[in-house]
Amino acid sequence: MTRKVTDFIVVGSGIAGLMTALSLGGSGQVILLTKAREEESNSYRAQGGIAAAIGEDDSPELHRQDTLRTGAELCDPGSVDVLVEMAPQTIQLLTKWGTRFDRDGDRWALGREGSHSVSRILHIAGDATGAGITSSLLEQVRNHSNIRFITHTMVADLIVSEGACRGVVTVDEDRGPVYYMARKGVVLATGGCGQVYRYTTNDLVSTGDGFAMARRAGAALMDMEFIQFHPTALAVEQNPMFLVSEAVRGEGAFLVNDQGEAFMERYHEWKDLAPRDVVSRAIFSEMQAGRKVFLDAGQIGSRFAERFPKIYRECRKYGIDPARSLIPVTPAAHFVMGGIRTDVYGRTTLPRLFACGEVACTGVHGANRLASNSLLEGAVFAQRVAAELSSYTDQSIGVPGVLVPALCKDKQTEDSWKQQIKEIMWNHAGIVRSAQGLKEGILKLRKLREQIPAGFFECNNMLTSAQMIMEAALWRQESRGGHYRYDYPEPIPEWSQKHNVI
Ligand SMILES: Cc1cc2nc3c(=O)[nH]c(=O)nc-3n(C[C@H](O)[C@H](O)[C@H](O)COP(=O)(O)OP(=O)(O)OC[C@H]3O[C@@H](n4cnc5c(N)ncnc54)[C@H](O)[C@@H]3O)c2cc1C
Repeated sequence: MTRKVTDFIVVGSGIAGLMTALSLGGSGQVILLTKAREEESNSYRAQGGIAAAIGEDDSPELHRQDTLRTGAELCDPGSVDVLVEMAPQTIQLLTKWGTRFDRDGDRWALGREGSHSVSRILHIAGDATGAGITSSLLEQVRNHSNIRFITHTMVADLIVSEGACRGVVTVDEDRGPVYYMARKGVVLATGGCGQVYRYTTNDLVSTGDGFAMARRAGAALMDMEFIQFHPTALAVEQNPMFLVSEAVRGEGAFLVNDQGEAFMERYHEWKDLAPRDVVSRAIFSEMQAGRKVFLDAGQIGSRFAERFPKIYRECRKYGIDPARSLIPVTPAAHFVMGGIRTDVYGRTTLPRLFACGEVACTGVHGANRLASNSLLEGAVFAQRVAAELSSYTDQSIGVPGVLVPALCKDKQTEDSWKQQIKEIMWNHAGIVRSAQGLKEGILKLRKLREQIPAGFFECNNMLTSAQMIMEAALWRQESRGGHYRYDYPEPIPEWSQKHNVI
């Protein structure tokens, strides 16, 4: 048995994992594990930007109000306070670690996105904010003498004994299991589970591993019914789907159907900059009525290529010139508001297990996430986790008693299981849900569970995440934020006090 001991274990190399590792690096030895290439994450894919109240017309209070309003009465106000108050200093820290946000002369260039009352979105190279931030953090991590960064290594499970998390066990294609034990604690920064849906903007690594591991370990998860569907993924068949950032609508582009109608007027007073769930459902309704949907970015014209170079290049690949032709779009699963329940220090309900970033449910997003608040959440709460965890005394780590099956390597079979999960989720727990559809979906997932062998780790984790989403969605008999039930189409006040805790 291979066993390695360190002070801190961090799982995931997105913004949350990298920031946690860097913030812990001064306090002890860190092992940072990630299951694919170092930059393979949703953080790297992020486009539009990161929110912070640093403009002259802005304040943490305004940012707070926008976040709470978008969260549809389900946010945790204490967590939101931490998020918005720490945002400006977090931008400074990122800058210190080499991130270069776009500037407009001697000021920050601030963009506007849906549901923000002012322009407060910092971005990099127009629409490559995630790549810009993660590249500079990766550079810091590579040069840090206290951080050992191990890629292409999948964490299969948490090691729990005597009521606390002691470490993790990994599997990879070439070796047997390796047991990594942590003297201080383990941090899950494994991101979301968009890959459980047929249409998603999420990277292939987003298979809900952290949610499933936490569940198996007995940590509480919360609010799993709330999934954000981004309204405007580029409507060409690919996985992941390419995102046409909300910032494009922020610059004046608007949605039209194939009859030339700017239909958002019919759905919301804020039209194209209405909350994401409203815009996604509006597009879904248009599509259900047999109409195709496009973004008209003609107003941005020749500035498009300069302001959104990445989106421009992707559109051109499919023969679309955003300055002249309409961009075909469709909603796609984008973000999980729920996750492993944590307090404002990232502590889960399992001692010595911490979580931050998309895998965590800090309560900052409530029922719906405000655009550009998730990179911020990862960066802010990573610092909180590190500050808390570095104060811990050493635990006794003992001998790991976890057995893991061998990794199944049959890619074709794995892809076929995954495709079945994705279809079930899209059809039964998608943008519009109902009790009957969810019940049918739960039965289908149960049948799949009986068939998938344990060595297909990602498939099993996807199934566990999918089941939690379905069951929570069935439980919530109302519509709120990212959760819409056509059998209960309105928010019901009593439900604003209730959270689904698994
Ligand atoms: C296309 C796109 C655009 C976006 N644009 C924005 C934006 O402009 N602004 C914004 O605020 N948010 C945006 N988001 C959301 C935001 O990017 C994510 O919510 C955020 O980056 C999540 O960061 P994270 O560190 O928690 O997880 P991720 O960045 O997803 O990283 C998760 C990491 O965990 C690793 N991992 C997972 N499971 C395991 C395992 N079992 N073992 C080992 N490693 C594992 C993965 O390989 C990966 O390295 C966007 C998302 C997408 C998909």
